[in-house]
Amino acid sequence: MEKYLLRNIDNPNSADLNEYAKAGGYKALAKALAMEPAAIIDSVKKAGLRGRGGAGFPTGMKWSFAAADPKKPKYVVCNADEGEPGTFKDRPILEKNPHLLIEGMVISGHALDAEYGYIYLRGEYPGAKDILDGAIRQAYDKGYLGDDILGTGTRFHLAVHQGAGAYICGEETALIESLEGKRGQPRIKPPFPVNEGFLAKPTVVNNVETLANLPLIIEIGADAYAQIGSVDCPGPKLYSVSGHVNKPGVYELPMGTTLRDIIYTHCGGIRGGKKLKAVIPGGISTPILPADQIDCPMDFSAMLKHGSMLGSGAVMVFDETVDLVKVCYRAIKFFEHESCGKCTPCREGVGWLRSILGRIDRGAGREGDIELLLEIAKNIFGRTFCPLGDGAAGVVQSFIKHFRGEFESKITTTKRTAGVA
Ligand code: SF4
Repeated sequence: MEKYLLRNIDNPNSADLNEYAKAGGYKALAKALAMEPAAIIDSVKKAGLRGRGGAGFPTGMKWSFAAADPKKPKYVVCNADEGEPGTFKDRPILEKNPHLLIEGMVISGHALDAEYGYIYLRGEYPGAKDILDGAIRQAYDKGYLGDDILGTGTRFHLAVHQGAGAYICGEETALIESLEGKRGQPRIKPPFPVNEGFLAKPTVVNNVETLANLPLIIEIGADAYAQIGSVDCPGPKLYSVSGHVNKPGVYELPMGTTLRDIIYTHCGGIRGGKKLKAVIPGGISTPILPADQIDCPMDFSAMLKHGSMLGSGAVMVFDETVDLVKVCYRAIKFFEHESCGKCTPCREGVGWLRSILGRIDRGAGREGDIELLLEIAKNIFGRTFCPLGDGAAGVVQSFIKHFRGEFESKITTTKRTAGVA
């Protein structure tokens, strides 16, 4: 497939506006500015673009809610807070193709009649901050941002807001709280941000990759875009692949490429000729799959039917040597650390999961620990403000579902070592 989101990034100056324009950049913006806002929203709906942050919500539908709200001003917020372990797919866009994101944001601003945009950038990407600031300055100088964009009367201003390194600020309402200068904790929904978001005004929060798809939709048209990838989830997709593959990295492939193809065709198979043991397909919060379940198209709908989730498309590959009890423990440690503490099932329950997993991992597991883990996970699931609690519970449930034997054998070994029959 011809690269679009990663087009031109091998050029060492790909972040420069002139190089971006030479490669065809900002043509889609000129085309979009000549379109009626409603026509852009229709195109996005027709193209079938679904949010690339993990939830997969139809972008055009989200936009139409905000567009229909008469309150002003409206805001476009780019969620560049990718903090899920294994996820680094947005980074090449932020660092090497920032004008693609800026172009997408101005297009969305025009479509929504929003005059202001923010890029909420994760604190751990300090290099991207300077690159984005430089690209934004260039875009202002060339008239792609400002009060009268390309002489069309369209007004859109854009700034970067740097987060402080909290994973929870990737959740859109926590992100908005943080952007308002408050502690980054999720809000109760409804009201949804499309009606009451930043400063209680209509706000569309879209992921970096989602916004970076907009110039392509405008450039080739909704019908051609809908032909890329799978029927249910069209378009190109960035997959970030890490772990025991020969060629880890970020791959732009049609949405719906199978896990097997990603691992064996594009990433060159398992390192050192070892056997594949398991794959986490979409970032640490998505259910793990054993090696014999990788023949599934990686898109939002197919992965759900397959018992996991596409998530952010962050494929984590584990070979036969990996201790998955330890992986599960480390994952839950992460969730405990990142829990914002707002709701009890997550604040207390995830810590409890971590404590039990820790004792199993260090050889002090007890009979009944697996049942206890499942009981706690069941009581967290569906009882929390935001998906972090569900994510943590789902990790434990899926690891035990597919690899229960590993947990049992660690506990049994403990008993033997302690001299219990
Ligand atoms: S689930 Fe966890 S992270 Fe989410 S609001 Fe509750 S305490 Fe905070």
